[in-house]
Amino acid sequence: MPAQIIDGKRIAQQCRQRIAERVARWTAETSVRPHLAAVLVGDDPASAVYVRNKRRACEQVGIRSSLHSLDAATTTERLLELIDRLNADADVHGILVQLPLPSQIDTQRVLDAVHPLKDVDAFHPENVGLLAQGRPRYLPCTPHGILQLLRHCELPTAGRHAVILGRSDIVGKPAALLLLQKGEFGDATVTVCHSRTRDVATITRQADLLIAAIGRPRFVTVEMVRPGAVVIDVGINRVDGQLVGDVDFEAVREVASAITPVPGGVGPMTVTMLLHNTLQAAQTLAGQRTAGPP
Ligand code: NAP
Repeated sequence: MPAQIIDGKRIAQQCRQRIAERVARWTAETSVRPHLAAVLVGDDPASAVYVRNKRRACEQVGIRSSLHSLDAATTTERLLELIDRLNADADVHGILVQLPLPSQIDTQRVLDAVHPLKDVDAFHPENVGLLAQGRPRYLPCTPHGILQLLRHCELPTAGRHAVILGRSDIVGKPAALLLLQKGEFGDATVTVCHSRTRDVATITRQADLLIAAIGRPRFVTVEMVRPGAVVIDVGINRVDGQLVGDVDFEAVREVASAITPVPGGVGPMTVTMLLHNTLQAAQTLAGQRTAGPP
């Protein structure tokens, strides 16, 4: 039987509806509108599209967004000055630095400079450390989006073998940390593979839950998937003008029990979790209790 298609677009829409209701309630109570400051450096068209989509999503749920653009030749120091200003601005609750930054910029220094309470991407070492210790403040957007897809589709992770392809700081590593957490939608047994892993297919065939985040079009073939596995495709690759994932969707959907499409799977959830974190940041900065998952 072909796999259940995990409709990230629909689930993201439901989550955004709930976030919009929370934002409206909180703004009515406090007269404070959550505000996300987006920082865009240079003129990379893909980055500009990502930032535009994030800002549009903010508007849809009642979050204010502002755009801070710097030219491609900006220095690390100039960017750090902007981050300092946004950190000090009580009107700004979340700061998003769109990656990748131009090569002359020290990305690590910039990400480290974002105030940890305004770090809605959860890239700051303090937030990464809290996550590693099992007491997260903000959850990283893409891995959190994956967990919310699993939760909404009632696909449990406890006791399951989760195999993650990719060990990036943005997806692979934090996804592993989240799945390792004690409690609901954690408690998995986690294996992380990377480019130096030997015989990847033998490992992926043991997965109850397979998460592909490597950025290689259709890398995961049907032979690499255990029948009945849940397959989450994070990859976004452009092939002949088309967006494709890291999974050979058409073949793998015939053996998996559930699978995310690309586009329309993980992508919409990533932006949704950014909205959730921005509301959380506004509430945290105001010293208030934050709401649970959307
Ligand atoms: P990244 O920083 O480029 O990391 C890629 C990871 O894949 C690395 O850990 C690399 O191993 C590993 N890898 C590469 N080739 C491999 C192979 N043949 N076998 C096993 N592992 C291999 O990528 P990323 O930022 O995590 O992004 C991954 C993909 O997800 C990209 O297509 C990106 O566009 C997409 N993405 C999507 C979303 C979304 O919202 N849907 C969000 C973020 C990223 P090494 O560490 O050994 O080099």
